[in-house]
Amino acid sequence: MQIYEYNVPIPDAGFDSNAYLIKLENKESILVDTGPNAPQALDTLEATLRKAEVSWENIKHILVTHGHYDHFSFAAQIVERSGAQVWVHPADRKKLTIATENPFFVEAETVIPFLKKLGVQKNKITSLISEVVASERGFKPLSESYIRSLSNRTVLKFPGLTIKVIHTPGHTPGSCCFQLVEKGILFTGDTLLPQITPNAIFNIEGEERDQSLVRLQESLTKIRRLRASMAYPGHGKPILSIDPAINRQFTRMARRSEQVLRVLGAQGLSTFSIAKELFPSDSGRYHTWLALSETLGHMGWLRIQRRVRIRDDAGIVYWEAQ
Ligand SMILES: [Zn+2]
Ligand SMILES: [Zn+2]
Repeated sequence: MQIYEYNVPIPDAGFDSNAYLIKLENKESILVDTGPNAPQALDTLEATLRKAEVSWENIKHILVTHGHYDHFSFAAQIVERSGAQVWVHPADRKKLTIATENPFFVEAETVIPFLKKLGVQKNKITSLISEVVASERGFKPLSESYIRSLSNRTVLKFPGLTIKVIHTPGHTPGSCCFQLVEKGILFTGDTLLPQITPNAIFNIEGEERDQSLVRLQESLTKIRRLRASMAYPGHGKPILSIDPAINRQFTRMARRSEQVLRVLGAQGLSTFSIAKELFPSDSGRYHTWLALSETLGHMGWLRIQRRVRIRDDAGIVYWEAQ
């Protein structure tokens, strides 16, 4: 078995997404993520196939770590050429198949009240919508017929290779890590990254809107217990020591939580007001969305620790130190 890494620049983002080709002894190949549907993607993957000496038809499976377009949106083109099956956790499945999963297109009736509750003003909601819509252009939905569902502890057996699926929600509800059992290697998507702490993106629907960060922390603990020898992340260089990388993430999260409490002070603030204090520069592309996610994640974590409480005032949620 051999692993080939390739990187595709994410349009307008200034950084790359990683994808990996696992070539088995019989040349059958498995992709872990595909990269974004960017102009360079096709050339990059073709060069990787040449290097690995495999053809499009050898790609039998695509394992998707999570439903973010920079990790899977090139899959539709690969499937057209190879007929590969695409594996994803059911909680992220809709993100692959429905272009309109982008909540701003179809779920205005859910999204707008949600954003209002966070304290986002009416005029800001419109610009927030255009930020997200601009980021997701180039998305190509996949046909349902190619998609297979993964769940925690799904085991995929190949000649000479066993891949175990570990459901690691937090960054997205359907985030998964893939463990190459015989090698002790782990593919971590955006759940464990070498340099930055992944954003625990909030859910728009459901009871657990502010619990993404708590889920991410549980998932990191799950990863730690696997005792993998190394990890291939969704962005950046391979992680050669997993424990210190996880420790760094927990340290950063704890530091950020203290920062949130300082911002909060004695007064009650909305999620949006806290986010503006924490992330004052408004740099476009997903900025506000990510800032709100990060903030709400920390509020949820602090709520669980009983360090903050909620006050509802005219439909807006205010957080108060407890
Ligand atoms: Zn992601
Ligand atoms: Zn990513």
